[in-house]
Parts: sequence; C-alpha cells; structure tokens
Amino acid sequence: MVINSIRDYFNAFFELIFPSYCTCIICKNKYGLGNYGICKDCLDKIKFIGNGRWLQSADIWDGISCRMFSVVEYQGEIRKLVYRLKYSYETYLAREMAKMMVDYMDAEGLKGDMIIPVPLYKSRERERGFNQANLLAKYISKGKGIPYSGNNLVRTKNTTVMHQLSKRQRRDNVNNAFSLTSPKNIVGLEVILVDDILTTGATVEACLKTLLEAGAVSVTVITFTKVSQEQLIIIDEE
Ligand SMILES: [Zn+2]
Repeated sequence: MVINSIRDYFNAFFELIFPSYCTCIICKNKYGLGNYGICKDCLDKIKFIGNGRWLQSADIWDGISCRMFSVVEYQGEIRKLVYRLKYSYETYLAREMAKMMVDYMDAEGLKGDMIIPVPLYKSRERERGFNQANLLAKYISKGKGIPYSGNNLVRTKNTTVMHQLSKRQRRDNVNNAFSLTSPKNIVGLEVILVDDILTTGATVEACLKTLLEAGAVSVTVITFTKVSQEQLIIIDEE
C-alpha cells in the first residue's frame, strides 16, 4: 500500500515535470503528437493487426467458442512498451494503450456488460505493486462506460513461469488456477476479459472456462498485443 502510494506520487511528479502529452511515449523526443501520445514517425512503425488496422480472430478450444481480439503486433517498440509498463513501473503508459484498445473496440463494435482483467496471483501483484491488466481494464471501463470488476475473478494458484513449457503443458499449468469470489454476479453477463498480451491463450482459456461455468453468457477477449507462434518460446505467460 505504502509502495503504491509512493509510486503514485512519483508518477504524478514525473507527469508534472515531463507531461506525457508533450512528448512521444515511445521516442520521448518528438512533439506534435497525434493519438495515443505517440508521434507520427513512431505511429507509422507500429503494426496494427489485420487489414491495415484491425483484425478479428475467432478461436475454438474444446468446444468453447470465444472471440479474441488483439490490437497491435508484438514487435519493435510495442515489445518495449509492454516491458516498460510491466517492469519499469511506467504505469501512465496504460492510459494510452487502453485508448488504442477502446478505439479498436469502437471500430469492431465490441460491447459487453462487464470488464474484467486477467488477474495476477496475489503475491505476484504485491511484488509488482500493480496488475497491468487491471490498469488497462480500468481505463477501458472509463473510455467505454462499461462497469469494471477487478475483485471477482481471482487467481488461486501461483502458476510457474511458463516460457519453457509446451502449449499443452501451459494449459495444464493454469488449469483450475482461477475462481470467482461472487459467481452469482457473473450470471447472464456478457463479459469482456482484458489482458496486456496474448501468448498461447492458455491463461485466457482457463479464465473464460471459469466465467462461462459460472453462468456468463459470453466472453470476449481483448488484449493490447499478441505474440506470433515463433515468439512464444521467449515469452512468459503469467
Ligand atoms: Zn515518437
């Protein structure tokens, strides 16, 4: 708690000295910014997924169908952004990343009744001081005017680091790792599940099973970025 407050103060102070609306959040030295606090040169380098910009992907696991959407490819500066948000405590980045996700949702007409972030295990969140998916989900909730629930879906199993595991092993690893503190609050809802990065989908799959079994009508997954199959080997799935 104290660490969180100190970090909030630090972020607020940093924002005062180097306002994020003045310089590009990627190269940090250009002005005249467009959307998302990113200068035109940097924006041109970002690979939005799909036909020039957006792509809808649909995957089916074990008879469960789920719509999954990711906004940008996991490459170049996007990799650094995700890393900076997660490990360098540059939490202000979440606001701009969430803006991209909100625009994506508007473009695709994505709707839902409740926004829920993919949770971290308690001790890991305590260690980091925040859950990046939580930050994104809160900003998306504000941007879309859809209620947010950050406490219902919880991770009950501290899963091991997964970068050396196969897809099947990753699925076994997160199986039964999630539960709901108030399952009745999910019944009948169209849930939007939010995460920063989609890797094999094993984590997301475990979450959506938990949500659907509790009575959610549907789960739509939106992540900021998505790794390619070739990149899987180097990415830890949380
Ligand atoms: Zn730039």
